[in-house]
Amino acid sequence: MYFSLLGGILSDAEAFPLPAELKLNLTSHTPVVETSKEVIIGELVAQSIMEGIGDIHSPVCGTISEICPDFIRIQTSQGIEEAEPLVISTENQGNIRKSLRLLGIDSEKYVPSHYLVISGVNEEPQIYTREQALFSFPKDVKEGIEVLKKLVLPTETILILPDGAEYGNLDPLVWLDAKSVIKVNPVHPAGIVELIAKKATDKETIEDAVVVGVDELAWIGRAFKEKKPFTEKVWTLLGKNYLIKIGTKISDLLKVAKIEPQKGDKLIFGGPMRGTAQYTEEASISKHDNGLCLIKAGAFVSIGERPCINCGECTRNCPARLQIHLIGRFAEFSQFEHARKYSVQSCFECGICGYICPARRPLVQYVRLLKEEIKKIDEQAKKNQANTVATSPIKKGERD
Ligand code: SF4
Ligand code: SF4
Repeated sequence: MYFSLLGGILSDAEAFPLPAELKLNLTSHTPVVETSKEVIIGELVAQSIMEGIGDIHSPVCGTISEICPDFIRIQTSQGIEEAEPLVISTENQGNIRKSLRLLGIDSEKYVPSHYLVISGVNEEPQIYTREQALFSFPKDVKEGIEVLKKLVLPTETILILPDGAEYGNLDPLVWLDAKSVIKVNPVHPAGIVELIAKKATDKETIEDAVVVGVDELAWIGRAFKEKKPFTEKVWTLLGKNYLIKIGTKISDLLKVAKIEPQKGDKLIFGGPMRGTAQYTEEASISKHDNGLCLIKAGAFVSIGERPCINCGECTRNCPARLQIHLIGRFAEFSQFEHARKYSVQSCFECGICGYICPARRPLVQYVRLLKEEIKKIDEQAKKNQANTVATSPIKKGERD
């Protein structure tokens, strides 16, 4: 079973045409603009209210037309005026984190660790953003590595590359000393964070490793170099890479791709194995998405709650070595603690079991359900424990 992670990228990403409007998604942000305000490229429009989460800036010149709790809509103009370069610094950890927030980049996962693992392997089939970063932005990637090294303070920095990819003008093997480069067969699920970490560290857990994609590094390096916020990124639209403004809506992506989805077609943010189906063409791209793919109606037999026929194919092919044929049943019968014992939390949702199951059982969805239920159980247990401590009577002799 082979799912290639190579797109054969041999040219730069095309600039995506400027859409008539953008919809910037807010997660943990407070808007700092009002409706009807005119904004310019790079202007701050929403401030992060959570540590480790980047601010949001306008990718275009235009007018704020709508502000909702979860998005800001901007009508674009053809203007090219840009905000002043930001005052940023790479002097110490505190300044770097502050700079990342000002540049619109999340930093919560960049914590001090033994390993800094840099992945040049595309995360999923049909998404080619890492290959593009290696081909088009190697110098920005290199700058990004230098910034992150100051945050992660790694003892070992390891680069994982796909075997057989083209790397443009700069040989990535010269970025680090050759001992730190590992090549992998670019076949799904090799690009998944957990497997990249395992390849680099030879350990089953990623607790002492920060894994970062070269695409992420390119945007960090570029933002620091230009002192401009992160407002556009490479995005794989139905197999082709574009440089796209964050906030571009699916409806605009489809217009450029000249696609009119038919009834039953599925639009997916991310790749076909692990992506998230979108229910409206009004959805827009955020900093974390990296592509859109389309699954035509009828391309696959749809999944459903069908009985397991005990063929064992799912378990035989699980790269995490989980007994997913049993875990699926635990979900059906709400046996959450059994699922925990069978390490459901170690599933990295590669999608292979669900893809391969001849009964088309919703195995990945079962896993997601189980993880949620176990999380709820654990949260409730913590609350109960806190209440018990708060209400337990003071025993004789404890007061002093
Ligand atoms: S999604 Fe399925 S195949 Fe992939 S790790 Fe999880 S259980 Fe294993
Ligand atoms: S592949 Fe599907 S039918 Fe076969 S054992 Fe796994 S869940 Fe059951």
